Amino acid sequence: MLERIEEKLMILADAAKYDVSCSSSGSKRKNTGGIGDASASGICHTYTEDGRCVSLLKILLTNHCIYDCAFCVSRKSNDVKRAAFTVEEVVDLTMNFYRRNYIEGLFLSSGIFKNADFTMERLLRIVKKLRLEQRYNGYIHLKTIPGASEELIQEAGLYVDRMSINLEMPTEAGLKLVAPEKSHDAVRKPLQFINQKIQGFQNEKKLIKHTPNFVPAGQSTQMVIGATPENDWEIMSVADEFYKKYQLKRVYYSGYIPVNNANETLPQIGSRPPLIRENRLYQTDWLLRFYNFSLNEILNPAFTQLDLDIDPKLSWALRNLHLFPIDINTADYQTIIRVPGIGRGSAMKIVSARKYGKLREYQLKKMGIAYNRAKHFITCADTIAPLGFKYAPQIKNTILQMGSSKYKAEMAENQLKLF
Ligand code: SF4
Repeated sequence: MLERIEEKLMILADAAKYDVSCSSSGSKRKNTGGIGDASASGICHTYTEDGRCVSLLKILLTNHCIYDCAFCVSRKSNDVKRAAFTVEEVVDLTMNFYRRNYIEGLFLSSGIFKNADFTMERLLRIVKKLRLEQRYNGYIHLKTIPGASEELIQEAGLYVDRMSINLEMPTEAGLKLVAPEKSHDAVRKPLQFINQKIQGFQNEKKLIKHTPNFVPAGQSTQMVIGATPENDWEIMSVADEFYKKYQLKRVYYSGYIPVNNANETLPQIGSRPPLIRENRLYQTDWLLRFYNFSLNEILNPAFTQLDLDIDPKLSWALRNLHLFPIDINTADYQTIIRVPGIGRGSAMKIVSARKYGKLREYQLKKMGIAYNRAKHFITCADTIAPLGFKYAPQIKNTILQMGSSKYKAEMAENQLKLF
């Protein structure tokens, strides 16, 4: 019996590793006398050998699937060992792992057996059992099954912290290339439905205190990067639209890991996942959400591909040298956070500290900014003369050649070195 569960776990945890959208931030679920607390502990993360985040008990209910998406290891034509947990097995595993402190939450996804509702109904039974029978208050992230009925999705939303539904390829045209049976519409509709429900429940809660939580940690989606020919501008345009339209908490960008050679349009086994590109997309995403950049400033029809050797903020600054240097002693916060090498925390320190006098170079260095990068774009109280760099390529070369630069060219070829 135990061996059978162990084998299922090996198969279904392995199949789940391709899904990177497993972060756990933002839940407000409180412990009401049961076990676990999603908001207090969050989720511990670990990493697979290819650098991906593996979160807690991250499993598929099954890797059987009626679809044949070419990029997916669980597609029906792939010759892999299949397995499926029962509802009770997932509940028992979660509770046992939780009690042993192995995990702090559940990330549950699934292939589609029989049809969307049949699968979704089982996922719903799992989360219901965990919450109502086991009184489990830990974090639950549930992948919604595209095409499942709204009634099932709505009910599941009452028991989970986060829901997500994967967009897969960034554009409809890209999706049709590798998964002709699927459509973006089947993702947009549930995202819109869940968003409306979240808003509805939140509004109701303002009037009726005991309104239950509905997907308190919000919803997210994932795009596969590098499998189909979309450029970075197209990818980020979709992400930007989804953040605005469906108020997503996160969009995840997952560099495609080749899983088969059957489809010639996909990168073949042996080719490297585009991890640097994936990282640049995450940095762009961050700039849009927390640095008040508009997408058009970073990517646009004339600049469709992010630089791989430098980050998007530095790239933007080098394309807009006419806006620099800025005076660190007079510029407002929103201008300061746009300087390469200065993050939101250091910008806040700068704005607070200058109430007590004009800031000098040594003080800026102490505030933790990346001064060697920032110095090309700022002046402070003891700046004697501009650095003399007039051209973006010169500044870029100087930054790239700095001994400790994280942008060193050799690193840009593949994954950043860990040590
Ligand atoms: S529907 Fe999902 S699980 Fe099934 S083959 Fe497509 S991507 Fe894989």
